[in-house]
Amino acid sequence: MVFIGCHLSVVNGYEAMGKQMKDFGGNTFSWFTRNPRGGKAKDIVAEDAEALRDLLKKEKFGKLVAHGSYTMNLCSANLSTRANGVDMFQNDLKRMEMVPDQYYNFHPGAHTGQGVEKGIEQIAEGINKGLRPEMHTTVLLETMAGKGSEMGSSFEELREIIDRVEFSEKIGVCFDTCHVWDAGYDIVNDLDRVLNRFDEVIGLDRLKAVHFNDSKNECGSHKDRHEKLGQGMIGMDAMKRIAMHPVLSGLPFILETPNDDEGYKSEIAIVKGWF
Ligand code: FE
Ligand code: FE
Ligand code: ZN
Repeated sequence: MVFIGCHLSVVNGYEAMGKQMKDFGGNTFSWFTRNPRGGKAKDIVAEDAEALRDLLKKEKFGKLVAHGSYTMNLCSANLSTRANGVDMFQNDLKRMEMVPDQYYNFHPGAHTGQGVEKGIEQIAEGINKGLRPEMHTTVLLETMAGKGSEMGSSFEELREIIDRVEFSEKIGVCFDTCHVWDAGYDIVNDLDRVLNRFDEVIGLDRLKAVHFNDSKNECGSHKDRHEKLGQGMIGMDAMKRIAMHPVLSGLPFILETPNDDEGYKSEIAIVKGWF
């Protein structure tokens, strides 16, 4: 049993994404909670959200992994960018209550010259402004490749953020295989050691979802360019070992590979074939 799916577009609504993923052969998916480049979010129609919830139950889908906007930067040096990021975060979490008990993943942010310490503090502050105890969503920090001043490319940084989150049971991590590799963790030759390290620093109980991507670049490149499964520097053997690693069993695996619909269908079939 594996939960595998890919990133979808919300343009036709929520139930439509569930139907599309069923058609793709998958049983989880991700989507942008708003235009990835920012802007005002569309309201969720209550009936549409309910129809998706019914479908998820009926088709026994795994947890979904919503994705926050790329423009949301909780630790920007620019005050209005930062405030805007907190607004988006709060608003996204409110709307996620229409599709309760799922994951909301986002890029921790880029400190834009303020330094790592400031970055950690401001990200945690933003999260604490958005998360309320009565909410039903688990927020996930995405492991990042470490481009520029991007935060979250080391397990230690993620841990520092998590430590400062007030409602600790509502925060976890999404493990992006391309990003982790680009950040310098050798998941090809040393997967067990990387996962052990994750366990020591963050704790495997925090690991809630996987972005399942090959990488165009080598380990430690800090580039963040995704590749199709098996066609990048991680390669199919290592991707298979990751998917089948007992420690990651039962987590939602989301493909964010450069594919069209047919490409996604075939990658979903490949992963299902391993089980
Ligand atoms: Fe992402
Ligand atoms: Fe990702
Ligand atoms: Zn990426």
